[in-house]
Amino acid sequence: MIKDPNTYKLLTPGPLTTSLPVRLEMLVDRCTWDDDYKDITQFVRRTLLDIAHVSGDEYTTILMQGSGTFGVESVLSSVAGGKDTFLIPVNGAYSERMCQMLSRYGIAYVREDFAWNERVDAARLEALLARHPEVTALSIVHNETTSGLINDLESVSEVVRRYKLLFIVDAMSSFGAVEIDMKALGIDFLISSANKCIQGVPGFSFIIARLEALKATEGNARTVSLDLHDQYKTMEANKGKWRFTSPTHVVAAFAEALREFEAQGGVLERGSRYARINRKLREGLQALGFEPYVCEAFQGPVITTFLYPEGRTLDFKHMHAWLKDHDYVIYPGKLTDRDTFRIGNIGEIYEEDADRIIALFTEYVKEFVK
Ligand SMILES: *Cc1c(COP(=O)(O)O)cnc(C)c1O
Repeated sequence: MIKDPNTYKLLTPGPLTTSLPVRLEMLVDRCTWDDDYKDITQFVRRTLLDIAHVSGDEYTTILMQGSGTFGVESVLSSVAGGKDTFLIPVNGAYSERMCQMLSRYGIAYVREDFAWNERVDAARLEALLARHPEVTALSIVHNETTSGLINDLESVSEVVRRYKLLFIVDAMSSFGAVEIDMKALGIDFLISSANKCIQGVPGFSFIIARLEALKATEGNARTVSLDLHDQYKTMEANKGKWRFTSPTHVVAAFAEALREFEAQGGVLERGSRYARINRKLREGLQALGFEPYVCEAFQGPVITTFLYPEGRTLDFKHMHAWLKDHDYVIYPGKLTDRDTFRIGNIGEIYEEDADRIIALFTEYVKEFVK
């Protein structure tokens, strides 16, 4: 095998550092309409159903060109009928973005805001639903990558079931690292993308849909290119054929990422590796004076938001460049009202990386944080 050309690791929640075999898959140019390539697409669709613990009799996977946001927009703009009203619990930038999409399409919605370091509270949603009988669908972000907070799907799913709502989950940065039993939770549409916990490269998103719910949405799409049902129909009828040009290199790389994922022990193994590294980084940086923004009980396994140390000066640009010189790339914060930075720990990041990162921060703080 060739020497890995990567010179630094990404501590960013997508794109992330991928394995060399995943990247090597991209050296082959493939044709979209021959069976070899369609078989790769079908393998990906099938394997994703397995990870979601559902069968092809009741559920299907639709792959959609574009990053994760395109997947979310495809679902929201394709499933809403003229009489639908959404409820969006907002506690981060990605749920905020869902509201932006619904506004743009003129789809009715009500939003319920929570602090960005506070979990979505199912009881508050229930109280709101009692006042808003027009609500027919609920769309929620599982792991808010904005902050690193993980919402509790179980309590929300109970409310969704009681009110018989359509249930949409952005599981972008949790799918593959956190067990999600779609059927048990009653999720109708689950969205994630190639460059998150399955550890592929960016280029497409995927939607796992309950067939009955999906079929009921035929004709609702507001765009051509993001029409979820149309994409499903083509993929299904032509056994793995995409409408329009598909990101062939990315799909082949993703198939390799899935094989590695399964060989390494699936969700359980990946989730526990991420959680271990996440805890180590959180504790290590906290000891250096960087307080996590999200409390331990709400912290998800993939990314942590750290506040700048109280009363001291920190130059993020300088720190970012210095760490990059030392082979690690960190992420700016995404909060609007606090100075923060983020450290992601998904991708080919292991415990020795966590040790090295903490040692680097220790050195940096001593040298540059006054
Ligand atoms: C990554 C991510 C998205 C999609 O973002 P893109 O930049 O379009 O890939 C959406 N929601 C969550 C929670 C994410 O982590």
